[in-house]
Amino acid sequence: MNNEVQQQGYQHKCQNCGSSLRFDADSGKLFCEHCKSHFEFDQSTAVMERDFADLVTFSSWDESKVAFYRCQNCGASTVLPRTSLATECPFCQSPFVADETATGMVRPDSLIPFEFTDEEAAKQLTRWRKRRLFAPNKFRKRTKEKGIKGVFVPTWTFDAVTLSNYSGTLGKRRTRTVRRNGKTHTETYIHWFSVSGDITMTFDDIFVRANDNITDGYFNKLQPYDKSKYVVYSDEYLAGYIADNYTVDPLDAFQIARKRMDARIRSAIMSKYNADVQGTLMVDTQETQKSFKYMMLPVYVASTKYHGKLYSQYVSGVYSDAKRTKAKIAGKSPVSFWKVLATVLAGIAAVVGIYLLVCHVNGTQPFDFLMQADQVKNLIG
Ligand SMILES: [Zn+2]
Ligand SMILES: [Zn+2]
Repeated sequence: MNNEVQQQGYQHKCQNCGSSLRFDADSGKLFCEHCKSHFEFDQSTAVMERDFADLVTFSSWDESKVAFYRCQNCGASTVLPRTSLATECPFCQSPFVADETATGMVRPDSLIPFEFTDEEAAKQLTRWRKRRLFAPNKFRKRTKEKGIKGVFVPTWTFDAVTLSNYSGTLGKRRTRTVRRNGKTHTETYIHWFSVSGDITMTFDDIFVRANDNITDGYFNKLQPYDKSKYVVYSDEYLAGYIADNYTVDPLDAFQIARKRMDARIRSAIMSKYNADVQGTLMVDTQETQKSFKYMMLPVYVASTKYHGKLYSQYVSGVYSDAKRTKAKIAGKSPVSFWKVLATVLAGIAAVVGIYLLVCHVNGTQPFDFLMQADQVKNLIG
């Protein structure tokens, strides 16, 4: 039995000089770095939602099989990780994009193409480092990322219309004045009341990460991705980047989406009644419509070394403003102990200053409460 399967894929060649083509973020076309030619390819923005029933038809990958691809440019054969959708030949750097219909997995429906090059991403990172006010100045002004690579993050997105029946108790915070030991106190209490009814909600594009290469925290910081930038999936957009296929099963991902929908349904019910807290609220939800898409989102991944430690950064591959000057960035930077200490001390000084000023205006003795605490101790002791 042969455990090796040759992965079929795409390697686009320049019609003029035969060199490998890669996607050029500036022009949105395929580009030959050797003879500087640009080539158009079929592009469409008619992105469709897919019916949920589609999910049962996909076959899962056979773990026992090893995929490899043979580079059409240099002839080298390279073993491909099970989840690889796009990569480069390690010997000649020719882009290789796997044939998404031959992977046996759910094929991507859409993606957002990179809008700028890695050079622009590096410029964005330089500006980002300068804005890290708590980072050591050397990191802010004199470090440079070790490398920067365009990566497509696989993402499930779900749409749903839900109908929920709910019943139980909700609470509102109220205040009341009570007299205790001859003194008046204001206290907060919760007023509980019963509710029941139904609510219909519409959810559009709930993103759930389809692998673990980026944390939820960072991934959320790069959002939202503008819907007007969605295009129909085509392998040319991936040429020259790294793209990984999903490792989170779509049905598992939908359970994550469901939890998020439940949280939003509950908060919608609470705001309907102006409630502050949930008591025994039971919510039974059914999806009356649901659809999904499998998308690839563009992210530049970089890391900066400082004092022997690596700090990862993620730059969204698309601009976040209409003027096309800014991109969202999430990531880690070192923290200067002295800067944090100075800020904390300045904060304490400001609080004490305001306190003394208030005492002065009110004509009260500063630090009067310390004396009161003493008196209480005397009473107890
Ligand atoms: Zn060429
Ligand atoms: Zn090669």
